[in-house]
Amino acid sequence: MNLEIISNELKKREINKIVKFNEPLKKHTSFRIGGPVDIFCTPNTIEELKKVISISKEYDIPFWVIGNGSNILILDQGVRGIVIKLNQGFKKIIFLDKIVKVGAGVSLIYLGKIALKRELSGLEFVCNIPGTLGGAIINNASFNGNCMANIVQEVTFLTEENNLESASKSDLDFNYRKCNLKGRSAIILGATLQLKEGNKEKIESKIRKNIKIRKAKQPIDKLSAGSIFKNPPGYYAAELIEKVGAKGLSQGKAEVSCKHANFIINNGNATARDVLYLIEEIEKRVKEAFNIELNREIQILGEP
Ligand SMILES: Cc1cc2nc3c(=O)[nH]c(=O)nc-3n(C[C@H](O)[C@H](O)[C@H](O)COP(=O)(O)OP(=O)(O)OC[C@H]3O[C@@H](n4cnc5c(N)ncnc54)[C@H](O)[C@@H]3O)c2cc1C
Repeated sequence: MNLEIISNELKKREINKIVKFNEPLKKHTSFRIGGPVDIFCTPNTIEELKKVISISKEYDIPFWVIGNGSNILILDQGVRGIVIKLNQGFKKIIFLDKIVKVGAGVSLIYLGKIALKRELSGLEFVCNIPGTLGGAIINNASFNGNCMANIVQEVTFLTEENNLESASKSDLDFNYRKCNLKGRSAIILGATLQLKEGNKEKIESKIRKNIKIRKAKQPIDKLSAGSIFKNPPGYYAAELIEKVGAKGLSQGKAEVSCKHANFIINNGNATARDVLYLIEEIEKRVKEAFNIELNREIQILGEP
């Protein structure tokens, strides 16, 4: 890829201001791990985003979209291609009574707080999930029995072919940690959520309960990317990991959390290589002990 040609192209299309070259991605992930990406784009409008996708197509440069980077591991040599992170223009929230239209870049924690202020119920479970709406929809984020599928009505997205489309909840086929936009290079732009009228004290109490559970069970004061593995049907990944003696296992500055064995934490300058070592070690041990293949929940991106 010739960065000078791309740079000129970005200027010609007047989107050079939303682009940085060789941006360290560790700044954009909750793990604080990972190398730089060649081209980092932060579009504010659909038009800007479409221009980025057009360049990606014309010059055959792969692209990925990230939200808050709270469920991804960026590898040490970084990403060859384009990483897109939606900016302010995709962080709008519009309330229409109990229906709320939310931009994909909105932080879930912020959204939860705003809903509480308006005494709207349905978002109590997201209050401590450090992602954006876009990442939460793709992953059907959940906590304590509630998930995004319960509140999503409609999602708007840009297809890989640069077409604007929308899909209703039933079209999206939500399931455990996925919906059918996952893996299709679709970029979620926003969604309509259906909330319920609630009572402020009751909503606050649910939020407090969720936070208490989380503080007791998860290493939320450490750098991590949330759960590393999905729970296999009928099992908890954390329990399997504990049973194979991997809790507390460390490699470099990466460690399998002693609080929640499905979390790997970065105790300093852990590398993606350290984290991957632990992931592979866990996979090997669980396979050997239980003949179960753990599926990764986190998305791994880039070059080792
Ligand atoms: C301490 C901690 C606690 C957590 N607790 C929970 C929990 O209780 N429940 C839970 O479900 N998760 C939890 N997570 C994981 C994570 O926060 C969620 O999966 C969250 O929804 C990811 O959102 P994100 O914006 O950070 O996405 P990212 O991590 O940036 O990306 C995750 C995936 O979503 C895709 N994506 C992001 N934005 C878009 C978009 N606009 N359009 C299309 N694709 C997009 C990315 O390409 C990637 O595949 C936790 C993480 C941490 C660090």
